[in-house]
Formats: sequence, C-alpha cells, structure tokens
Amino acid sequence: MTAVNQSALNARLIQRTEVAPGLMIIQVAPDGWELSEFRPGQYTVLGLPGTAKRCTGADADTGRRDPAKFVKRAYSITSSTIGREYLEFYVMLVRSGELTPRLFALAVGDPLFLGQKITGMFTLDGVPEDCHVMLFATGTGLAPYMSMIRSSLAQHRHRRVAVVHGAYHSWDLGYRAELATLARVCPHLTYLPLISEPADEPVPWRGHTGFCQDVWKDGAIAEHWGFQPTPENSHAFLCGHPGMILGMLELLKESGFAEHGKKSPGQIHLEKYW
Ligand SMILES: Cc1cc2nc3c(=O)[nH]c(=O)nc-3n(C[C@H](O)[C@H](O)[C@H](O)COP(=O)(O)OP(=O)(O)OC[C@H]3O[C@@H](n4cnc5c(N)ncnc54)[C@H](O)[C@@H]3O)c2cc1C
Repeated sequence: MTAVNQSALNARLIQRTEVAPGLMIIQVAPDGWELSEFRPGQYTVLGLPGTAKRCTGADADTGRRDPAKFVKRAYSITSSTIGREYLEFYVMLVRSGELTPRLFALAVGDPLFLGQKITGMFTLDGVPEDCHVMLFATGTGLAPYMSMIRSSLAQHRHRRVAVVHGAYHSWDLGYRAELATLARVCPHLTYLPLISEPADEPVPWRGHTGFCQDVWKDGAIAEHWGFQPTPENSHAFLCGHPGMILGMLELLKESGFAEHGKKSPGQIHLEKYW
C-alpha cells in the first residue's frame, strides 16, 4: 500500500454492470491523460484510499490497515486494444478483501486510481501464427481472454479458438451473451460454458457440467474442432481458480504439452490471480 495523495484519483468509473451478486463489469476512464498502448491479456492496477467506504454485504473492516494508505490490486483488462477511451474490468467481490469491497461501493462518476503502466506476459505473442488456442477460465479468469477475443478474433480467421468458461451457476457466466453471439457468427470460435452446480438451476442446464478438466477429458474441444488439439497444433491458456490451473496443468502435461517459460518455450501459458 502507498500513501494517499488525492490527486492520485486519476480516473473515473464511467459504467458499472452487475453480472450477479458479487460480480461486476466496470469501465474506467482516465481523467485528463491518455491510456498507453497494451497487448490483449495484459493487466493494470486499480486503487482506492483506505478511507473509502466498503459496500454493504462485505465483511467489516478489520482495522488492521493504516487508513491513510492506498489499497491497490492488479486487474486484467477485458476491453479491446483498439478503443482507447476507457479500460474495462471483470471483478469478483472478495467479502473479506481490502480493495474489492471498496470497488463495489463505487457509483458511476466516482473517482479512483487507474495505473498508467499496463504490463504482463499472459498474451498471445508467443503463439505461432499457425497454432490454435484453447482458453480455459474459471470466474473472472475469463477477463484476459475477452480482450484477446475482442482485439484479435477477426484478424486470425484461420486460427481455431476455444473458450472453456467454468462457474458455479449459469448466472455467474459473465460475457455469456457476447461469447455465444460471437461463436454463432464466427465459426472459428468455440464457446463451451460449464457450471458446477446444475441442481440449483431454475431451468434445466443443457450444457457441460463439472470442471474445465472434465471438458478436456470428455474431448469436447476435439469434437467441435474436428481434430485433436496437440502440442504441435495448439497452445493452452489457464486463468482462474488455483485448483483448475493445477488440474489442467497435470492433464495437459499428460498429453505432452509443456509449461511456457522465458527460458523454455512451451504451449501452456498461465496467469495466477491468487
Ligand atoms: C495479474 C493479475 C490479474 C488479476 N486480474 C483480476 C481480474 O481480472 N478480476 C478479479 O476479480 N481479480 C483479479 N486479480 C485478483 C486481484 O488482484 C485481487 O487479488 C482480488 O480482487 C482481491 O482483492 P482484495 O483486495 O479485495 O482482497 P485481498 O485483501 O487482497 O485478499 C486476497 C485474498 O482473497 C482471495 N482471493 C483473491 N482473489 C480471489 C478471487 N478472484 N476469488 C476467490 N478468492 C480470491 C485469496 O485468498 C487472497 O489471498 C488479479 C490478480 C493478478 C495478480
């Protein structure tokens, strides 16, 4: 945390969409400065003073933190790299958290801190032009993929892209309408939403259930693509719950995929949120 300087509230919330309780999509515009260029999949920082109020429904303040300090956290950008008036983020409320209860208390027009530096290695840059892409996410782990899809789907029509997005319930599947529509108009995009608690659904769920690992084991991507994704023809991206990342890493490694690193290029790319 850094010391509070009110001039550091350098941006404003310009839109806020509630996806479900504790899940929101927000748009943040810089106040009097220009956003820098970025690569789809990268992240920046949002922040608020420790004195900012917490939303209702969040745990009470522990009082352990110095209120005179700023709380800052990293968030993946969901918006395309093409439009540059604002950045969009997909945020989950951590009720006991330091920043998210304060972000959820914001109304449209309120000021906040937006990092000017946009960074991160979780991008499509290391994927060869002739390789297909599998994007596995749980919850808000979908965020970097929205920027990748919005920024580059149209330019890579030869590349098959599969989005496997897991959530507890159908109503937690943010961006579902946009992805389903894109998949209908772009045959090279496969959208595989899945839920882990189908018994709670008021209308029977006809899609995949369980975990991302089940979608991989069932061969659902191969069935949609008409060929088996292999380390020779595909790269895999993992973002979200640590259990999903570990589980998918194990399965993909069994199929011959290797983790991508600076010194040892591989086909599995991962972003850990916590
Ligand atoms: C590169 C990067 C990109 C990120 N992008 C996003 C994003 O796009 N959207 C987003 O919502 N978060 C994202 N995060 C997580 C984000 O930075 C914060 O950690 C999160 O919002 C919680 O902040 P907080 O201050 O409210 O909680 P804190 O006070 O920091 O408490 C953190 C604790 O809450 C738990 N926690 C954190 N995140 C989650 C989560 N999503 N689900 C369940 N438990 C969690 C963990 O136990 C963690 O130790 C990203 C993190 C990184 C490193």
